[in-house]
Amino acid sequence: MIWFILSEQKMNSKKQHKVIQFQENCIGCNACVLIAPSTWRIDSVNAKSELINGKKKGQVSVATLNDFEIEDNKKAAEACPMRIIKIE
Ligand code: SF4
Repeated sequence: MIWFILSEQKMNSKKQHKVIQFQENCIGCNACVLIAPSTWRIDSVNAKSELINGKKKGQVSVATLNDFEIEDNKKAAEACPMRIIKIE
């Protein structure tokens, strides 16, 4: 029983990571898509990248990351020449 309670507390305290994009300044260089293709794609309408499962409000998109996507998205944020990708 104690194990169950401790496991549940650990699960509840696990931080969910998010990726945030400020799309207005995207130059469509494709770096994020190449590095993290499960998270990013190029929008065929405006030729800028977008979050595949992102929720967009104005020019800002936010998506929740699965654990296996965190490292690649950190690399994408580092590679972005416009510095418009943030990981929280
Ligand atoms: S790396 Fe940055 S500038 Fe390049 S497509 Fe992705 S978000 Fe846009």
